[in-house]
Amino acid sequence: MYHRNCKGREMKIHEYQGKEILKRYGVPVPASVPVTDPERAAELAGQAWDQLGGAVAVVKAQIHAGGRGKGGGVKLARSREECVALAEEIMGMQLVTHQTGPEGKKVQRLLVEAGCEIEHEYYVGLVLDRQTSRVTVMASTEGGMEIEKVAAESPEKIFKETIDPLTGFQGFQARRLAFKLGLSGSAFKNAVRFFLALAKAWEETDASLFEINPLVTTKQGDVLALDAKINFDDNSLFRHKDYAELRDLSEEEESEIEAAKHDLNYIKLDGTVGCMVNGAGLAMGTMDIIKYVGGEPANFLDVGGGASPETVEAGFKIILSDPNVKCVLINIFGGIVRCDRVAAGVIQAVKNVGVEVPVVVRLAGTNHEVAAEMLRTSGIDLIVGDNLRDAAEKAVAAVK
Ligand code: GDP
Ligand code: MN
Repeated sequence: MYHRNCKGREMKIHEYQGKEILKRYGVPVPASVPVTDPERAAELAGQAWDQLGGAVAVVKAQIHAGGRGKGGGVKLARSREECVALAEEIMGMQLVTHQTGPEGKKVQRLLVEAGCEIEHEYYVGLVLDRQTSRVTVMASTEGGMEIEKVAAESPEKIFKETIDPLTGFQGFQARRLAFKLGLSGSAFKNAVRFFLALAKAWEETDASLFEINPLVTTKQGDVLALDAKINFDDNSLFRHKDYAELRDLSEEEESEIEAAKHDLNYIKLDGTVGCMVNGAGLAMGTMDIIKYVGGEPANFLDVGGGASPETVEAGFKIILSDPNVKCVLINIFGGIVRCDRVAAGVIQAVKNVGVEVPVVVRLAGTNHEVAAEMLRTSGIDLIVGDNLRDAAEKAVAAVK
């Protein structure tokens, strides 16, 4: 359920922010109070308990990752004392889930939510289906579980409706989904209203992912979003200036934030060959060929068409801030940018940054002979690749 395309990414937000947005569109969510000051977690959680005024509250860790329940980040409190104690326990903890990696994520925000009497947990999600180029609404009776697992093991339990961009999500589609989920009576009516409100929220927020897992029915026939995962399409952020305050930079990859400041398209990956490439397509191609010759790329990095020495230097710093990087492969095609300009950038960067891993360079296009000569006489220890395949092989050999 997670996707990043080669140009631009998704912006993630916390559950409590997602629920706030859904509420504005009339999607029912339980009453809740966020706690965003780690220093005053206990005090604020106590106040939240009083404010909610129920017999049960749920204390929920707010991190940009799912699986919090299983990891111990979602717990039920049956008294004010318990609510305070759980807030103290969860705030500041290093929460490990299947989506955080083994080091986990430090919890710095909580959501204290009114407990509800769950009758059944369902799943509902909206995604962009790249096969049909349309938005698909998915719903399942198997809520609370990982939907990837349901899709793999019992795909017949996932019901789908495709949204026609001309007409939008239709009432009959909402009813068909509610019917297939086996709902009746007030739960059916409420689910239909829920789906319609959710589809409207999707359309107006330029979201790229909605996941309500679980969506629950209660004994009283209410239909509520107990969880809310919302991602926004980065390419639409210019239309939503108000989303800036939803951003939680402490949840994002530091090197990716740094890259964004320099207008570099950078995505950290898990391999060992750092890649510096101009153009998103060439960057994808470079990653492919690294894999083809037996290596693993450490990142995707597009320095852009007009790579200046400063951009190249910034790119170098970002690539090298990743301790996994054992070699850097520079692959530049001099189309808009001249190779000699890039070579000057590489030389400047290596001198300024102090690179301690082997650097393989492949430059092709305008002025590549001049660039090769500059690199050869620069006094810097660089490995020159004759072509892309040769460069990739040399980079992978340098790692090993
Ligand atoms: P996730 O594990 O990160 O997906 O976090 P969720 O918000 O989905 O919470 C995990 C589980 O906690 C849910 O599937 C529910 O079973 C349970 N849970 C969450 N909120 C409530 C609540 O208000 N009442 C009860 N009884 N259980 C809840
Ligand atoms: Mn969930």
